[in-house]
Amino acid sequence: MRTLRFAGHEVPAIGLGTWYMGEGRATRTQEVDAIRAGLDAGLRVVDTAEMYGDGAAEEVVGEALAGRRDDALLVSKVYPHHASRDGVRRACEDSLRRLRTDRLDVYLLHWRGQYPLAETVEGFEDLVADGLIASWGVSNLDPEDMSELAAVPGGSACVTDQILYNLTRRGPELDLIPMLSTTQVPVMAYSPLEQSRILDAAGSQALEEVADRHGATPAQVALAWCVRDGDVLAIPKSASAERVRENAAAADLELTEADLVALDEAFPAPDGPVPLEML
Ligand code: NDP
Repeated sequence: MRTLRFAGHEVPAIGLGTWYMGEGRATRTQEVDAIRAGLDAGLRVVDTAEMYGDGAAEEVVGEALAGRRDDALLVSKVYPHHASRDGVRRACEDSLRRLRTDRLDVYLLHWRGQYPLAETVEGFEDLVADGLIASWGVSNLDPEDMSELAAVPGGSACVTDQILYNLTRRGPELDLIPMLSTTQVPVMAYSPLEQSRILDAAGSQALEEVADRHGATPAQVALAWCVRDGDVLAIPKSASAERVRENAAAADLELTEADLVALDEAFPAPDGPVPLEML
């Protein structure tokens, strides 16, 4: 299984997303089972946020991790409007309660808002000092934001930037990903399946052809592509235990040079840097 160093731990390069979980009572058991299936398959990183379902996704994760908290490396995110020095503490305590745990492994600023990065970093460092979080990072920050972050006191402790990255959104590989690689900061690729649209996108024929060569599925190929260089952790979301197992197995799929060339032709990278996109 392909792994990478993330927040001080060696973890599988595929993790578990949770956006849209907790929004319908009928599917809750299925969602809990899907997260547990991922952990059973050896996945470790579970990504959630106070935003998802207004906290309901965190509650689903809390239920899934009951009795097995240490199996997961738990990531949650704070809303920008909660990201003041005191606000992050209140938001973090609320997240911990919903997650039924006493600590987060990684706490992310969900996107940049009205509070100066220096103030949010101070708030995060207070939480580290008090043991509520083990480390912190950011999400949706572009290269310029990341340079600014690196220059604030304590800013170099950032462990990741969680960004939109997949075969149809290749901008970050031209600037942000190489920039962070130089300091061994991995990127978390969100929406690595473009919320499943990648399976019908122009170019999906190539995904199918590569998948056929490996006896794999197109989704597995799209995920294996994201994590091919060892500096990206992809966090697909699925509420189906079967698809979670399928996604986990993508960490074992090694694409060949010929596969990468075919995917490059079907999903070309932009000619030059493009503004960081977000969903
Ligand atoms: P994904 O690209 O992970 O796609 C999720 C969709 O793909 C779901 O509809 C799921 O359906 C389907 N799917 C999953 N696996 C398969 C498969 N093997 N075959 C076919 N379909 C599949 O999109 P997300 O936007 O959910 O991104 C992943 C995670 O990233 C989020 O859940 C969230 O944790 C994080 N995120 C972070 C953002 C940020 O701003 N920081 C923004 C967006 C996402 P089903 O559940 O029915 O299987």
